[in-house]
Amino acid sequence: MPGVIHLLPEGTANQIAAGEVVQRPASVVKELMENAVDARATLIKLFIKNGGCTHIQVDDNGSGMNAFDARMCWERHATSKITKAEDLYNLHTLGFRGEALASIASVSDVEMKTKPAEESVGTLIQISAGKVLTQENTAYTQGTSIAVKNLFYNIPARKNFLKSISVETKHIFEEFQRIALAYPAISFEFYNQDNQVSQLKKGDLKTRVADLFSVKEEELIDTSEQTEIVGITGFLGSPKLAKRTRGSQYLFANGRFIKDAYLNHAIASAYTNLLEDGQYPFYVLFLNVEPSKIDVNIHPTKHEVKFEDGRHVYTLLQSVVKKSLGVHFVIPTQTQLINAVEMGNRNTPSSFPTSAPNARFNPFGPTKERTQSDWEKLDSLLKSPTQQDYTQRPDPRMEPLPWQELPTNLAIENVFQVESSFIVAKIDGELWLVNQHRAHSHILFERYQQSTGIASQQLLFPRTVALTAAQYALYLEMQSEINALGFDTSEFGKDTIIINGLPTELAKNDGADVILRILDEFAETYQKAKLNKVEVLKIAAARNAAIKAGKVLSQTEMQALITDLLHCEQYTVNASGKQIAVKLTKSSLERFFQ
Ligand code: ADP
Ligand code: MG
Repeated sequence: MPGVIHLLPEGTANQIAAGEVVQRPASVVKELMENAVDARATLIKLFIKNGGCTHIQVDDNGSGMNAFDARMCWERHATSKITKAEDLYNLHTLGFRGEALASIASVSDVEMKTKPAEESVGTLIQISAGKVLTQENTAYTQGTSIAVKNLFYNIPARKNFLKSISVETKHIFEEFQRIALAYPAISFEFYNQDNQVSQLKKGDLKTRVADLFSVKEEELIDTSEQTEIVGITGFLGSPKLAKRTRGSQYLFANGRFIKDAYLNHAIASAYTNLLEDGQYPFYVLFLNVEPSKIDVNIHPTKHEVKFEDGRHVYTLLQSVVKKSLGVHFVIPTQTQLINAVEMGNRNTPSSFPTSAPNARFNPFGPTKERTQSDWEKLDSLLKSPTQQDYTQRPDPRMEPLPWQELPTNLAIENVFQVESSFIVAKIDGELWLVNQHRAHSHILFERYQQSTGIASQQLLFPRTVALTAAQYALYLEMQSEINALGFDTSEFGKDTIIINGLPTELAKNDGADVILRILDEFAETYQKAKLNKVEVLKIAAARNAAIKAGKVLSQTEMQALITDLLHCEQYTVNASGKQIAVKLTKSSLERFFQ
């Protein structure tokens, strides 16, 4: 009797694999850029349109492929990087599964041009939903260019699952940053909607970090330690660079970005008492272990690796970070100094470690004979029980939980709206009142401040708008700043402008209306507030794009709004000094009833 089991057709198998490898446009960016790195490119250019949903292209000047490989690379399990399982223990490339290109091609339209240095002519290949449509010779310079269009067009369920263009753009930018950070010797360029948003010249890690995050080099503390088990290099951010979210923690293992709650905890714990409650340190650290001591074969997209000796790596990492912070004597924060002084503890060091760092402290040396460095004395002093009386209850959001995946959501409970304008919520046990319009305006404002690739949506019917002479003058003055916020506008004859596109958040509004309101509000506020012009413009744009008071919000919308707010640099007061949220702690509640 014939059985019921049969092999899946190749195309179906690839689409299923694509579900694993290609979850969103940023996954395509990661795979293509990693391939370019593996091809030893020295310049990698990334182009995207509409959050990568319609267009992602990576051009590199790496090894290129000959006509045979150019066809072969689109087959499943086709790779040049390993030939047998044992090679996994000696892996020096980012890729090895040979799955990425086949998966990508099964869910999009792809066009590739490639040429190795030794060939005189290149190859052009076009593929649609996994079927090769064209393969022909083409003129091309050395390297590879792969363009992926209409991602998920043949998988509507996946397509509908994508978030807004701005969210997808943000994910892409994050992937770009991670790869650019890991390979400072490679030059990178990033273009969003044909505009250059990032240009990174090759250099050393310090310059790359400074270029990517606009931080001052003196805020970066050098870390470097080589042991038999692991090499640790990179930079620790001074407490000044600490953030309210975990977003600026970059940890790499053998050139791969990893998310490892356990190791992040090792680093954060070394910073204990140097940061205020609820702050997370900034760092860019690279762990290098022998390829045989690390298992990267966990999941194609998860940012996880397994170390043969995880506990050891944890302890070493913690000591190295402590040592670097100690040697560079990061000065304790004001509160800690006051606390330490108030304690009047006899153990208080006569001088703080600024005057006497113990540069010889070796975390790997014998521990028994070692005397405590001043920094460590201060550390234990600050940790001593007396000090507890002076400090507040630690914010549960501050310490990452070891050993387990961190919950990405905070405990935001019992959320409801009052007067369709204010949100009441219990957040980590405290009662919060949030002004919804101000909260959303501020979230958008901070996003504009970071202003990485604000997506613009083209209007089907561009609009012309007649302005008054004053408005027009103001427009001309601020035109490039206005367009940087996601507007696509230009002059159109006397006192008239044409609007071709609007920021995604504003796409549903009437273009003319919004721009007039923003210009008017800008003119008015600018005269009153003595803020910087660009900030005033951003505030005006954010206020107009934000949800209004009186708008009924769903549970999910309220949760999302509060989560976004808590991820802002500053979330209780906005840029004009107005209160966004009020937090009622247990003691402030008790005060009502005294
Ligand atoms: P993997 O990277 O796991 O080997 P991929 O599907 O990503 O699998 O790529 C398949 C093969 O195609 C690679 O092993 C490599 O030989 C080749 N390839 C892919 N991208 C490039 C590129 N940008 N330059 C040169 N060769 C490439
Ligand atoms: Mg690859």
